[in-house]
Amino acid sequence: MLDYHVHALAHGEYSYTRDWIDRYIDCAHQVGVEEIGFCEHDEFIHLIDLDLFKSIRDTGRHNIKLKLGLELDFTMDREELIPESIPTAEYDYIIGSVHFIDGWGFDHPDHKSGYDDRDIDEIYHRYTEILMASSACRQFDIVGHIDLVKIWGHRPRRKSVLAYLDPVLKSIKYHGLAVEINSGGLRKPVGELYPSSAIVERMYDYDIPVTLGSDAHHPEQIGSGLIEAYRCARRAGYQRCVTFSRRVMTVVPLQY
Ligand SMILES: [Zn+2]
Ligand SMILES: [Zn+2]
Repeated sequence: MLDYHVHALAHGEYSYTRDWIDRYIDCAHQVGVEEIGFCEHDEFIHLIDLDLFKSIRDTGRHNIKLKLGLELDFTMDREELIPESIPTAEYDYIIGSVHFIDGWGFDHPDHKSGYDDRDIDEIYHRYTEILMASSACRQFDIVGHIDLVKIWGHRPRRKSVLAYLDPVLKSIKYHGLAVEINSGGLRKPVGELYPSSAIVERMYDYDIPVTLGSDAHHPEQIGSGLIEAYRCARRAGYQRCVTFSRRVMTVVPLQY
């Protein structure tokens, strides 16, 4: 299995040390993950020690392959998505994720009440607009947790989530991006993969490449729910997924 969505720094509460990263690798080894993509949130990029990462990667602990990714917050008003100070050439892939709707951090437990103050279809509509813009910005390789807006279990009323996302999937295909199947949603109130199986089936119809990730924010979460993500991909028809090295996509068999 590969787990392409792993946060060693979580939300800044951990330090980027060899011992800490080795714990992720040890946990991955125990659960059968053979390739880990560490993708810190871009707000913590200054805490990533690139030399240390490369040294750990070259050590080859348990023969697990390590990739260096980044999870970038996409917002409509962010002028400089990837600051020049970020050595993007060093990164294997960049995940573009939408965590904010016009300044509202909808996936944060402290801001959940924002769903009560807005019309749910307006929320889905605006979320989709932002996703659409992110898919066309040409800065990402992978679209992160594409239906994250369902995190607390809110569903649109006027049309299905799939109907909202369909134009976005077409844009993703057009721009040659991959979409991740992220098992982090299984640990949230919604209790589902991001995205749901209906969306994964549509992705397969559009021949959109997939990666898989757990969104682990702790060593013990590595690989969590990934088997379900693999099954979902297979049920939709996928026999291949993709990996990335230095921003180049490679198609590999979906092995699990
Ligand atoms: Zn995220
Ligand atoms: Zn994440």
